[in-house]
Amino acid sequence: MTESDLCPRCGLEPETLDHCFRFCPKVKIIWRSLGFGLSDTDSHLTLPCWLRLIQREANSVADSMAKEAAMAQHDYLEWIVPQPSLVSLIRMDSSVLP
Ligand SMILES: [Zn+2]
Repeated sequence: MTESDLCPRCGLEPETLDHCFRFCPKVKIIWRSLGFGLSDTDSHLTLPCWLRLIQREANSVADSMAKEAAMAQHDYLEWIVPQPSLVSLIRMDSSVLP
């Protein structure tokens, strides 16, 4: 049995921090499944800079989700008084008169 410095997930590259967090093909699948768009143009960034970029992207996604949730809650809680003519057409068994 020999000890290797290759990544245990893919076995293609040495197990560096950059590889573990960014460049491993197995890790890229995880990032993409979480909704992060990984760009080759970001590959020149240092790991701390790249992590800040990911953090900003995560905050942006979280903000969008919070706004959507707030809108959905607003839509759910908003009740509009139906027109009187509409109410008279709906019977108690939820069927609508022709
Ligand atoms: Zn790997």
